[in-house]
Amino acid sequence: MSLVQTQRTIGQVMNELKEDVTFLPKMTAEARENAFESGKEILTTTDKVIKSYIRVSKDDGRIVRIPAYRIQHNDIAGFYKGGIRYSELVNEEEVENLAVLMTLKNALHELPYGGAKGGVVVNPSDYSERELNLISKKYVQRFAPDIGPTHDIPAPDMGTNEQVMDWMVGEYKTIHPGENYMGAFTGKSIENGGAQGRREATGKGTYYSYTWLVNEWARKQPDDFLHDGKNIHKLQFEKLKNLYTKSDRGEKISIAIQGFGNVGSVAALEAYKDKKLHHNVISVSDHQVTLFNTDGLEIVNLVSYQEENGHLPRTKEALESVGVKAAILERDAILTMEMDVLVLAAIEDQIMEGNMKEIKADILVEGANAPINVAADTHLHQKGKVVIPDILANAGGVTVSYLEWKQDRITQLYTKEEALDEMYQHMAASCEKVFSSYFYRELEGIRKTCYLHAAKRLFSLLYKHGKLF
Ligand code: GLU
Repeated sequence: MSLVQTQRTIGQVMNELKEDVTFLPKMTAEARENAFESGKEILTTTDKVIKSYIRVSKDDGRIVRIPAYRIQHNDIAGFYKGGIRYSELVNEEEVENLAVLMTLKNALHELPYGGAKGGVVVNPSDYSERELNLISKKYVQRFAPDIGPTHDIPAPDMGTNEQVMDWMVGEYKTIHPGENYMGAFTGKSIENGGAQGRREATGKGTYYSYTWLVNEWARKQPDDFLHDGKNIHKLQFEKLKNLYTKSDRGEKISIAIQGFGNVGSVAALEAYKDKKLHHNVISVSDHQVTLFNTDGLEIVNLVSYQEENGHLPRTKEALESVGVKAAILERDAILTMEMDVLVLAAIEDQIMEGNMKEIKADILVEGANAPINVAADTHLHQKGKVVIPDILANAGGVTVSYLEWKQDRITQLYTKEEALDEMYQHMAASCEKVFSSYFYRELEGIRKTCYLHAAKRLFSLLYKHGKLF
């Protein structure tokens, strides 16, 4: 979804909310209309866009000037929060869209944060460690007045990691000595105040959102709770039911995972190890290749290869060296193959008009932000496929970020088990809220249902804080 599409969807759900809001006091129709109009205006516009340039000297002596952003969409639900992305594709519109999605994600999962996002226009693999360290420190120098533990709390995103957060916290501490600098960034290394489980949280949470829907929800509904056979909800329910019956019969559910980074590799490992729902991970991919084997791939071996080399094996020899049997296909082949479940954990705009009709998976899970555009989302929905939207599926990371931020303030340490348990509980509560209202009230789309819950919470906070009039 692009920025305009995200804003349009917010506008639509705000219109639908008019019928659904009970907390407004008795007021004239006109006052009510005005309240909704100002709510819509606030939620579809951005509080602050900060653009700056970072100058760094490359190892060869050249000076480069790199655009960098921090965009704060809305803080009605709490301090601004969201990752910083390093990618050559970063641009203002994209960062702003991601900031809006953070506001919605945090509201949907009832985390006490607003939404923001940062971006730097660099391909990290084109830069040395010294250069990346310099870029990260300069980012903080540029944006220090606008970030902080009780104002805007960045975290990792695509192309950044705990090393980058550690560099940033170090620089922040130099600029703001004495402040509770630890809480200014989340996703730090454990040695530097990070939370156990943060690194795996997004991938684990993404996979969990899908298995929760199949195991904890679909499995527990009465068979005939939806009667109309032509109804999209009924078609979707049948697809979910097929998955657990297949697994119960001892057959394997086929799953493919696009992207083998921090989210994709963890989700692949979860599917590979799942003892409740049995899977064959038939395909994984990165920015260069798709690997494919109908009998399932040895994910553990691929993860160790990836850890050592920074990418998936690309040649027959490399595959043999880790004992993996697979066909090597082109990058996008993964999207359109025959399978039950597709996890999208790479980048945005992967399923669009050009390939939406070729998608064979019944269930699609958005581990990445915005991997399916609006036309494709509508098409997949009408086909009765189930799309678990980004703001619902990939919130595991920011949920554990919240624990990390809390832990830095109250000096309580979470064990890995406690952190992940709390993350799963949050995810389960949000999934319950979304899927029950979606299926039982037969709402128009799962994504819209997520937006509806988020917008309702944000609108009620705007009202409570007297910001609507
Ligand atoms: N970048 C992640 C996201 O898109 C995590 C943000 C955070 O932990 O603040 O949700």
